[in-house]
Amino acid sequence: MEHSNRGKRVLVTGGSRGIGSAIVRTLAACEYDVQFIYRESAETAETLLKELRAERPNQSFSAHKVDLGDRNAVDTLSDRLSEEETLYALVHNAGQSYDTLAALVDQTRAEAIMQVNYWSLTRLVTAIIRPMMRARSGRIISIGSITALHGVPGNSIYASTKGAALSYMRTLAVELAPKGITANTIAPGFVDTDLLNLYADHRETIEKQIPVGRYAQPAEVAELVRYLLSPEAAYVSGSVVPIDGGLMASLGGRR
Ligand code: NDP
Repeated sequence: MEHSNRGKRVLVTGGSRGIGSAIVRTLAACEYDVQFIYRESAETAETLLKELRAERPNQSFSAHKVDLGDRNAVDTLSDRLSEEETLYALVHNAGQSYDTLAALVDQTRAEAIMQVNYWSLTRLVTAIIRPMMRARSGRIISIGSITALHGVPGNSIYASTKGAALSYMRTLAVELAPKGITANTIAPGFVDTDLLNLYADHRETIEKQIPVGRYAQPAEVAELVRYLLSPEAAYVSGSVVPIDGGLMASLGGRR
């Protein structure tokens, strides 16, 4: 189906590297105007911005430094967003992992991760949703994780943040469907980014457990985002879409 995304504004959190930068690049290539949030990787953000502006001078791109772990900073961002032109889509991708056994969890760190992975999502949605409802069109995507769907040792806190987001997104989908807005969760398995550096020594073993036999590339996740933002995906809402190389389908014990 032919359609144009010209002038449609999209916000991507955690857009300067990893899965987020693949999402930003893919959506830019689909002619969306993209603004993205970063926290630390200012140099990478600046390089990406320059690249996008040079390649696509007729589109609008911007990058904003916001620590989503800082409630006041998220409030300031939300206030700015509610004064700006209506967004077509929010892709909440920024996230932090916390690999530790439940018995060893540090409560302060756990709550900080909840703020980044979950509370910043709800705060941003509250800020952008009314104009989106008035426009009767929009897309909200949360990058979740298969750890919210299956138990993985060491992931109790990380998985809970993603589980909270998943429940929130489902409710959002039900509330917003009559307004022409969809809300979906993408649940990746293992994606080849810095987030998995912690497991670098075990990569071969992990890949053997994945039926497809490898980690996903960030661009493969970005393709799902592209689809969910398209008009063709208007009927997909409240969904949790795994992208895990068959990992969740597998019982293990492969020969
Ligand atoms: P990376 O660690 O490569 O990137 C994390 C991104 O989140 C960066 O852009 C980072 O920005 C941003 N970010 C982290 N903390 C904050 C914060 N406090 N404020 C603002 N931005 C922040 O991770 P991935 O690209 O792999 O992960 C992207 C998403 O995908 C996450 O939500 C993750 O949980 C999820 N995911 C990833 C999987 C994987 O295997 N890689 C599997 C399942 C889910 P900056 O660099 O500027 O700090």
